[in-house]
Amino acid sequence: MTGVVQGVGFRPFVHRLATAAGLSGFVGNDGDGVFAELEGDPVAVDAVVARIVASPPPLAHIDAVTAHAVEPTGSAGFEIVASRASSGAATFVSPDLDVCEDCRRELFDPADRRFRYPFINCTNCGPRFTITLATPYDRPATTMARFTMCQRCQAEYDDPTDRRFHAQPNACPECGPRVWIESDGDQVGDRIADPVAAARALVAGGGIVAVKGVGGFHLACNARNDEAVSELRARKNRIEKPFAVMVADLATARSIVLLSDAESEVLASRRRPIVLAEARTDVSADIGLSPAVAPGMKRLGVMLPSSPLHHLLVEPGEVWVMTSGNISAEPIVKDNDEARRVLTHLADALLLHDRDIHVPCDDSVVRLLGAEELPVRRSRGYAPLPVRLGFDTPPTLAVGGELKATFCLAAGRDAFMSQHIGDMENLETLAAFTAAVDHMQTLFRIHPEVLVADLHPRYLSASWAERAADGRPVVRVQHHHAHIASVLAEHRHAGPVIGFSFDGTGYGTDGTIWGGEVLVGDLTGFERVGHLAAAALPGGDASVRRPYRMALSHLYRAGLPWSDAIPAVAATPAVERAALRHQLETGLNSVDTSSMGRLFDAVASLAGVRQVVSYEGQAAMELEAIVAPDEDGAYAFGIADGAVADGAAMTGSVIDPTPALRGVLADLAAGVGPGVIAARFHHGLARTVAELARRIRRETGLGTVVLSGGVFQNAILTEEVTGRLAADGMTVLRHRIVPPNDGGLALGQLALARHRTK
Ligand code: ZN
Ligand code: ZN
Ligand code: FE
Repeated sequence: MTGVVQGVGFRPFVHRLATAAGLSGFVGNDGDGVFAELEGDPVAVDAVVARIVASPPPLAHIDAVTAHAVEPTGSAGFEIVASRASSGAATFVSPDLDVCEDCRRELFDPADRRFRYPFINCTNCGPRFTITLATPYDRPATTMARFTMCQRCQAEYDDPTDRRFHAQPNACPECGPRVWIESDGDQVGDRIADPVAAARALVAGGGIVAVKGVGGFHLACNARNDEAVSELRARKNRIEKPFAVMVADLATARSIVLLSDAESEVLASRRRPIVLAEARTDVSADIGLSPAVAPGMKRLGVMLPSSPLHHLLVEPGEVWVMTSGNISAEPIVKDNDEARRVLTHLADALLLHDRDIHVPCDDSVVRLLGAEELPVRRSRGYAPLPVRLGFDTPPTLAVGGELKATFCLAAGRDAFMSQHIGDMENLETLAAFTAAVDHMQTLFRIHPEVLVADLHPRYLSASWAERAADGRPVVRVQHHHAHIASVLAEHRHAGPVIGFSFDGTGYGTDGTIWGGEVLVGDLTGFERVGHLAAAALPGGDASVRRPYRMALSHLYRAGLPWSDAIPAVAATPAVERAALRHQLETGLNSVDTSSMGRLFDAVASLAGVRQVVSYEGQAAMELEAIVAPDEDGAYAFGIADGAVADGAAMTGSVIDPTPALRGVLADLAAGVGPGVIAARFHHGLARTVAELARRIRRETGLGTVVLSGGVFQNAILTEEVTGRLAADGMTVLRHRIVPPNDGGLALGQLALARHRTK
């Protein structure tokens, strides 16, 4: 058996079935999965195999079962045999999952010997990926190796009828990991009988506690305490980027956010992602959260407890901020010593434990479009489940992009997407990246023969790949083509398709910055058949951080005046305005960009929504958040063939936002509110995308449209485009497994490299 069959109770499951059917033989783990030999009545053997396939254990994903006849050995009894190492293909490792129903019942049962024990688990639940050093998955290959099971735990572990039969992280208060609390380097844990109660008291009193979870540390405080939340922002130097919150149960979640059935289901799933759900604003709901939790956002990131420790910490009715425990822009902290060094300044106390986290794994983030999951960050609970490919690939490592970095390690038909690593902009993240690559290569025994990286000459991921290659080929692929290819890989679609690849920044084949791209292509190549009209990005990063500069740049390109009545112009200091005009006129220290993300920034600034951002994507997210739900007006966009305004020779269609910008200015002059302006911009862009797709279909005969890039995290845009194209009889492919943002890029890179090197 191959698939997710290790660490999910598969061997005990086979043992039980075989024993019940009176068969003899054995079952064990090896590098390929699970192997078994069943001996006895052939009808009974077939029945057992059929049962294995039809109803495997809850956490298992069977990929394939291969069976062949062997000579009877006349063995008696059925046993679980030692794991065999093998150099074979990939073994799957289960993601980390929250406690199962049985374990949760025991956790809160005063009569149970694991009553309130924060590390309760069984073969059906608990940590996996983050504690596993190597495969086959067995206790000595996990960070549980240093804990010797007590007699009672060992008896459960050895008893085929027990739920903890061969549960590798099995533990109890007698023999397993323990929790303690530290403050100012003073390990007061041994003096405090109940560290969980102590941490709860600190949070109740307005304090901030660093909590060691499954994949790393969180910083926690009471989300209803404005002072505590603001203090956490100040200490973390995280000005506005939204915090996620944790609540104990769905009832508490429903008291702060509106949940569809699909959202409730994903929220309560054992993967336990953060779900971006609409915050309640109705008068009857006095949600009482600090406005500093998610400033400017209509949606709130909510999750349910993801480990027994979290179940003990957060009680029904409470709302806790749970944000990654790290220094801004550095990877999430996972080790106790690192926490003592780094988090002591941020937290009033550290709630620690002595079960080591081998690899860090941040929380996952999803939003729902109707009943479909749209991944925003695919990490804990999802990684490292593979994406099943529609083609075979040689062992390959694709290193992803720059922001929201993930990598993809693949061989055969399995593409293992890494957990979220962070933004590749400092040495700490690079080190975490290297460690994560090493870990996945060890787990899955994949030794890449080819590396794949972005075309961008200054991406740290690309220079990492060139250094790590050591003689192996490094295939460089274009960013927006990789976005489209990531959707194709998910859907096992070979193309050709019409692809809309809208994001913030990506390096184009012409040396300019792309980001509003219309491509026609497949996994072997693409043609840029259209793009947003390029505007200057004066001063590069300065214009990313200050959307008012992008607004002025777009006005300049469109030949529209910088009138003081426009919020964007008013927000620009006079000196900067003069310097900007000089830059735009001379092209000094300025590159051209067709970025759609920057157009969202420009419109957010023009409408007075956001002039300066403190995190990536902020202006666009705030613009989406204020869209007036009942407004269905739409700004016009031009679709020009051939040359752009500056006369540069271009092929294909140029999306000209000039009429839309005029519309914004006219609405501003007429006193129309930002919510209506935001709505008209979204609807106008959606109609333009649909119109372009129709034109390209007429020219090419292609009826399948792919949407990718971070801009398609925008639900309003994505849903309207999808609806319009579907109404026209076109097929829309969008992301369901990996994020549309650069966190999904590596999958597309992998697919492109495979088809390039064929
Ligand atoms: Zn369990
Ligand atoms: Zn024990
Ligand atoms: Fe991108």
